[in-house]
Amino acid sequence: MGDRSCGRRGSAVSTSKFDAIVVGTGPAGATVARDLASAGHRVLILEWGDEAPVTGTLEQTMEQLMSPGRGAFAVDGVMLLRGVTVGGSSIYYYGTATNPPFDLFDRYAVDLRSDVASVREELPVAELREDLIGPKATQIQTAAQRLGLDWRPLEKLIYQDRCESSVPMGFYSAPAYEAKWNARMWVDEAVTLGAELRTGAFVSAVECRDGRATGVVYDAGSGTEVAHADIVVVSAGGVGTARILQASGVGGAGEAFFHDPLVIVSGVVPGLVAPPDIPMSAGTHFDDEGFMLTDLCTPAENLAVLAAGAGVDPSRYPSESTLQIMVKIRDDLAGSIGSNDITKKLTAADVERLENGCAIAEGILREAGATDIFRGGISAAHPGGSVRIGESVNANLETSIEGLYACDASVIPEPWGLPPTITCMALGRRLARHLSGGADRR
Ligand SMILES: Cc1cc2nc3c(=O)[nH]c(=O)nc-3n(C[C@H](O)[C@H](O)[C@H](O)COP(=O)(O)OP(=O)(O)OC[C@H]3O[C@@H](n4cnc5c(N)ncnc54)[C@H](O)[C@@H]3O)c2cc1C
Repeated sequence: MGDRSCGRRGSAVSTSKFDAIVVGTGPAGATVARDLASAGHRVLILEWGDEAPVTGTLEQTMEQLMSPGRGAFAVDGVMLLRGVTVGGSSIYYYGTATNPPFDLFDRYAVDLRSDVASVREELPVAELREDLIGPKATQIQTAAQRLGLDWRPLEKLIYQDRCESSVPMGFYSAPAYEAKWNARMWVDEAVTLGAELRTGAFVSAVECRDGRATGVVYDAGSGTEVAHADIVVVSAGGVGTARILQASGVGGAGEAFFHDPLVIVSGVVPGLVAPPDIPMSAGTHFDDEGFMLTDLCTPAENLAVLAAGAGVDPSRYPSESTLQIMVKIRDDLAGSIGSNDITKKLTAADVERLENGCAIAEGILREAGATDIFRGGISAAHPGGSVRIGESVNANLETSIEGLYACDASVIPEPWGLPPTITCMALGRRLARHLSGGADRR
């Protein structure tokens, strides 16, 4: 391959050279950056979003998670969401910790066991204390268990000693910033260890020469710039990484993906007056059937939008009396992520999984005493599988361009359906170790 600029545009200003550039600060990017900095590498982190303090307000959520074409995408009837801010989607996630299916990764010569164990050791992973599981989640759990379901508390990434007995809630029902582990915490540590963070930096493509990565092209608001390094790790999430690699000439990037579509089923319990719960306190996984069910207490604003979207009167669903269950499925790999559009029609099997999960959720809500049950629209918050191991990257997460790696939910090689954060972090730890010649973090 001769000299070429992969997607370089406009006139560029060069900046000094780093050992490694990490693009994106979600759970995967934050882990790679922190571990590389800890191993003594000179790391530049480029992040499109900003690092304004997390307020949990509707206004900030609209800007970082729900602004069309940036955080939110209408994908053939599914509202796909991602967080664009330092910390990525983990600023808005529900903090549920799930291990990857190790045998799935084994099929691609990727053994994640020791890396999962090692990231978990550094994280506040535990089921919620009894006093932090709210009355609504308990009512749902009791009903599900009465129906014979294996409904149990889920492990959470929450510093429970930082939760007040009445858990402070931001929009999207997240516990307060300090109480919920999020990737911004590890970005801060990477910076303390010497990494440089540039925010508001939108990366469009990777530069390469003679088949090797040499840096990235980005726009920081004042024109196009180029940052140089021999190692480039793209961790811009399931949508962002596919787009950047596509613009850089990596084959297969963005051709088919999953997003784990979900439906929230809600019903009102006459006379119930209960405070908000931590979402996803407990649940159950129907692995063979391809769906997972959990309690999901959404904020009042969200509940009103769900009700209005389903054509029911929002005033009949006061937040303190409404029980909600999330049905999330493992969807087939399909569709495509292009530079300007995203398409993905649900398959007949996807629709059947959603239908089966919703029917069980409705049964649980009825058993819990809920009436006037309705299903919300379909949304999704786990874009991934768009730059798959074995197709666009090898088992070391390297692309066909030497020195160019992808590391985040996009490399998950098969349909998924699980909370991916721990997996993204384990992949990040494994890659940082590989790039450091096998050395462990200091
Ligand atoms: C409401 C909600 C609830 C969730 N709940 C859970 C949960 O309970 N448990 C769980 O495990 N997961 C949950 N998730 C999913 C989880 O947050 C994501 O799967 C995880 O954050 C993915 O990590 P990532 O590293 O792949 O990328 P992301 O978190 O998407 O981070 C990618 C980063 O790259 C940046 N970026 C994108 N494009 C560019 C570009 N061109 N240039 C520079 N930077 C760019 C973005 O701003 C972002 O910071 C939830 C998500 C949402 C939205």
